Amino acid sequence: MRNVKRALSNFKPYQPNQETYTVKLDANESKQFLRYDDLRLDELSMNLYPDTSSTLLRQAIGKFLNMNPKRIIAGNGSSEMIELILKTYVDKDDIVLSFEPSFSMYKIYTTIHNGTYIPISSNHDFSCDIDMMIQKAFELKPTLIFICSPNNPTGQLIKQKDIISLVESTDALVCLDEAYIEFTDEQKSLVDLVDAYDNFIVIRTMSKAYGLAGIRLGYLVSNEQIVSSLNSVKSPYNLNQLTQHVGVYALSKVEEMIAYTRQIIKERARVEDALKRLNIILYPSQANFVFFYSYEKELYRKLLDKGILVRAFDGELTSYYRVTIGEPFENQAFIDALKEILS
Ligand SMILES: *Cc1c(COP(=O)(O)O)cnc(C)c1O
Repeated sequence: MRNVKRALSNFKPYQPNQETYTVKLDANESKQFLRYDDLRLDELSMNLYPDTSSTLLRQAIGKFLNMNPKRIIAGNGSSEMIELILKTYVDKDDIVLSFEPSFSMYKIYTTIHNGTYIPISSNHDFSCDIDMMIQKAFELKPTLIFICSPNNPTGQLIKQKDIISLVESTDALVCLDEAYIEFTDEQKSLVDLVDAYDNFIVIRTMSKAYGLAGIRLGYLVSNEQIVSSLNSVKSPYNLNQLTQHVGVYALSKVEEMIAYTRQIIKERARVEDALKRLNIILYPSQANFVFFYSYEKELYRKLLDKGILVRAFDGELTSYYRVTIGEPFENQAFIDALKEILS
């Protein structure tokens, strides 16, 4: 048998869920709330390679963020952006830090690119101790630090002033993942600060709030120097024409996105209220999902037997669950199933 490279000898790949279900609440997807009837595909020249710098799309993102498109790179999901940062800045054995639990792709891409991933534990209530991260950054001299706020899978927000203190206290590149920022009560992004620092990148996605997980579209925002370095490594034609086109269209519907995220925020409060009455430990969330602990054995299976697919975890997060806030009837199906199982 041919061996894979040494960095991958203990590699645990990301495994998307392949179960059958009636209600899908495992991957934080949104409903397809935009209508695409008037999306014109005949405007495209599919015989030609796509615009390698996604110019129109970056203009639309720039308008959405009120930011110069020169500071933006678009790609195949934020996943491509995360990997691009590793490809560009992380040498073999360089240290990459992130709080744990957090988004598993930080570790996966670090491993693939020969970096050394070191998890920094969260507090017992899953809040993130920034002073601890600042201390660890001082001791371990990482090249890159990933921060996710609101955090996946816990839903917890890290205070803006804490993120700023981290950025100011370290030479490491700090990459803030704002995948769920549109679902927070205050919607305060830190994109406006990218130009104020030489070590700060913000990553965003259209997979969640815009309901576009199926077309793979994410982007990053940073200062022009970092953007230029990243662009020199980015694959040419990285983002296909269809995605660029749908992205521009979706970004012309900001009002619809805002209305949708408001609905989800309301639904989140309703689901949280219902769950608080059950025998589980619920953590406050600012994202489009809830996160909880249950003593019930085999809860994942029992929910799936009722057609409800949620996200379960292993290792230190055994018996913790992450459940997407879906449409009201889906959330109700989940609440009813959970009530039945726990009673
Ligand atoms: C869902 C998610 C993303 C989005 O990834 P895409 O590749 O853009 O679909 C990014 N970061 C976090 C933390 C997520 O949960």
